Amino acid sequence: MRRIRFGVAYLLAAVLISVAAFLSGADPVFAVILLVLCVLAILVQQSDEQSGPPTVAPQEPVADRAQEPIFPAILSTLQALDLPVFVIGRDGMLRGQNRSAQKAFGELSPGQHISARWRSPSILDMVRETIATDEPNQIEHSERLPSERVYIVRIAPVPLLEERGDEALFLLSFRDISELRRLDRMRSDFVANASHELRTPLASLRGFIETMQGPARGDPKAQERFLAIMLDQANRMSRLVDDLLSLSRLELKAHLAPDQKVDLVPVIGHVRDSLAPLAKDLEVDIRLHLPEEKAEVLGDRDELVQVFENLIENACKYGQEGGVVDVYVRNPPGGPVEVSVLDFGPGIPAEHVPRLTERFYRVSVADSRSKKGTGLGLAIVKHILTRHRARLIVKSAVGVGTEFTVRF
Ligand code: ADP
Repeated sequence: MRRIRFGVAYLLAAVLISVAAFLSGADPVFAVILLVLCVLAILVQQSDEQSGPPTVAPQEPVADRAQEPIFPAILSTLQALDLPVFVIGRDGMLRGQNRSAQKAFGELSPGQHISARWRSPSILDMVRETIATDEPNQIEHSERLPSERVYIVRIAPVPLLEERGDEALFLLSFRDISELRRLDRMRSDFVANASHELRTPLASLRGFIETMQGPARGDPKAQERFLAIMLDQANRMSRLVDDLLSLSRLELKAHLAPDQKVDLVPVIGHVRDSLAPLAKDLEVDIRLHLPEEKAEVLGDRDELVQVFENLIENACKYGQEGGVVDVYVRNPPGGPVEVSVLDFGPGIPAEHVPRLTERFYRVSVADSRSKKGTGLGLAIVKHILTRHRARLIVKSAVGVGTEFTVRF
């Protein structure tokens, strides 16, 4: 708009000059030439202006921007983190907290000293030291209430701020490592249990070898008896190692859902055949109740064989006194495929039922050992079923019997 207004003014000036030249007695042709020259000069000047350097929007000076308060920007950045973070000033007072911190520790009002929330001397000493030295620090801190939690608490200064002349700020963050600690504890318990299970047969083997080298050196009858026990112990150790390897292989692929179509009817038939010698020894009759049609699920055939072998073998061993094990395969239209294994043995007291799938958990250690158990059978079953997105349902009544159902 400004440029158009200037154009009209220039044109008026050119017309006035030409008219003045004409009135002052100049040749009319000269006046017209003068007008044309003026108009040309205006046009040339305007086109120069248009093709000149591009105009740049006026900017705020950089120095002004540096004076903008930076605290809201810091706080909104912290909102994007899922780590609880508190912002504190050099006076140890709280300036703000992100949403994760609110969720983990509740709403704390700004202006409150951090000692109002954390009385732990180690946290307060750490904060004091960082405020004095500007060096980051971290410690491990545990809280008992409302539930047992372990945190790595870290404090670090925000370095740029004081250079800009802003207030010094420090970030106090809490990394929750409770789950990591729980897994560590489980792993070390597991290693301790596995070593203990292996140590017992090893000690017994060593004892028999020493006896055969010493007191039983010239006694072939005793040696024969000891060798039979030693074979038993060696078998127990290899069963345990096999089960441990199965478990670790299953853990490696726990997140991969199997995708083969497996018909459970022939699988159950195969398991019954493979357990026939054991059932015969224990004088247990395994009765199958199979549907006419297929009972297909998405699965890994070998793993499903292992699940039903473990369940039916347990039913034969622990339910031996019932003399019968019933296996039902159900494939109701529109409903989930189910396999139930029922025995009529002593049953399992209710308090043990929730823990049966824990590694090395047995209702009676002596009973399990005498039946060649490793204490890992149901843990393996649970791992396989988790990978198959299937459930294990246990119903048991003392003196009546036990029913293990796998629901796909
Ligand atoms: P194990 O190798 O000792 O058999 P499992 O993990 O297969 O280990 O089973 C854990 C425990 O569950 C067994 O030691 C036994 O006490 C109990 N148990 C499993 N199945 C049955 C059952 N059908 N009847 C009674 N108790 C059972």
